[in-house]
Amino acid sequence: MKYISTRGSGMPLDSAEAIIRGLAGDGGLFVPEEIPTVSLEFIRGLSGLSYEERAEKVLGMFLTDFTSEELETCVKGAYGGGKFDHAARAPLSIFDDVSVLELWHGPTSAFKDMALQLLPRLMSTALKKTGEKAEVLILVATSGDTGKAALEGFRDVEQTRILVFYPEDGVSRIQRLQMLTQQGGNVKVIAVKGNFDDAQNGVKRIFGDAAFGEKLLEKNVKLSSANSINWGRLVPQIVYYFSAYADLLAAERIRPGDEIDFTVPTGNFGDILAAYYAKRMGLPIHKLVCASNANHVLTDFLRRGVYDRNRSFFKTITPSMDILISSNLERLLYHVTGDAAKVRGWMEELKQTGRYDVGAEVLASIQELFWADFVDDEQTKAEIRRIYDDRKYVPDTHTAVAWAVAEHYRRQVEHDHAMVVVSTASPYKFNASVLSALEVPAEGLDEFELLDALREKSGMAIPRGLDSLRTAEILHKDVCEKERMEADVFSFVP
Ligand SMILES: *Cc1c(COP(=O)(O)O)cnc(C)c1O
Repeated sequence: MKYISTRGSGMPLDSAEAIIRGLAGDGGLFVPEEIPTVSLEFIRGLSGLSYEERAEKVLGMFLTDFTSEELETCVKGAYGGGKFDHAARAPLSIFDDVSVLELWHGPTSAFKDMALQLLPRLMSTALKKTGEKAEVLILVATSGDTGKAALEGFRDVEQTRILVFYPEDGVSRIQRLQMLTQQGGNVKVIAVKGNFDDAQNGVKRIFGDAAFGEKLLEKNVKLSSANSINWGRLVPQIVYYFSAYADLLAAERIRPGDEIDFTVPTGNFGDILAAYYAKRMGLPIHKLVCASNANHVLTDFLRRGVYDRNRSFFKTITPSMDILISSNLERLLYHVTGDAAKVRGWMEELKQTGRYDVGAEVLASIQELFWADFVDDEQTKAEIRRIYDDRKYVPDTHTAVAWAVAEHYRRQVEHDHAMVVVSTASPYKFNASVLSALEVPAEGLDEFELLDALREKSGMAIPRGLDSLRTAEILHKDVCEKERMEADVFSFVP
């Protein structure tokens, strides 16, 4: 299987090459030239398999230039070895009316682990396969979750190193501790004096500096990024939609071939796009419900066909969905239209004017599969309370957004299909907001007291990775000026 750019230029590439490059040369995203399909027999066969075995089967259809031994090693490294605190890796909690696909049992308690545990291993294998001798240096600017998940994923992965910049005063104490205690021989974490934009702009400046890139190349180092436009970060996410279906079959909640709905809390459109690929492959999906917060640029787009980022930006209690440009939407537009010139035009308009209109016909074909709605912070908190009161289950804020929107869909449209709510973070990752929703007094508590208070209320075990921070050793103490990030990058390479 070959990969091409959504904007039409360049030669088709193997997946290994697409994963190493990350972004296509014309600024587009890599997409598979055609989407493989599977039979119902294939899907039924997944029910008896482990998560790792399910992953090998699904990945093997997209990463055809990897051998099955290579995929097996990557998958076992990513999901095995006791890194996930649940035997099912991505377990399904089944209630009478909905099921919840829990994607946060990995080392950093957020769904980013599902992809960021596998991407580094795919990349390292890709470097070997293609005979690339340079070392890859992953640069990340983070406002919290992605940095830690990327560090944990790349730690001690051959032929790679990772440097994470975070804003000195811009992350929560738990998030800072998660990063400052990071172990691994190829990792470094540096605080930037400034806010998230300062850190992000510094990283962008470095990526855009060709002369700096040359200097690194002399040391046999190439820069790359771990963000969600890389195909190697998207493809692992297709697996858990198949896995959820297989689990519903095994639990006899559905019969083979029954269509189901998924509701996905959406930011950069990566997670829900993975479900789109699953549907195109033949997984029986009826609707994909796209859930947003007050930054509902996607709800508006999916209702009206106009993408317009010219609007106010809100900071919400679901920070991972506070996004006005959803990069992965470009891939959907390509697959729906098959027209790279059109996609290129829309992306150019987005850049110039912040807006584009796909027209009635394209909108209609998107709406055959997608439905969208949003809730604000107050509704999100009310939903956490409702879910807790009804069934003593405590969702994180992002999951609660999805759950509330799933309810809207079932009330306003239909409830004939089994509904799966995709749960993207452990409630412990957003404990202050969750406790406030549950009306637990938390005034003046430090981060660890918050963990304890949530354990008391929820009865859920505190994730190991967070609990162990109480005693973990601080390993990274560097601080740098925002103008001097280049020097730190340079001193980190061998
Ligand atoms: C990243 C993230 C999302 C959004 O996922 P996208 O793939 O960007 O749409 C939702 N919830 C949480 C907790 C996340 O970390």
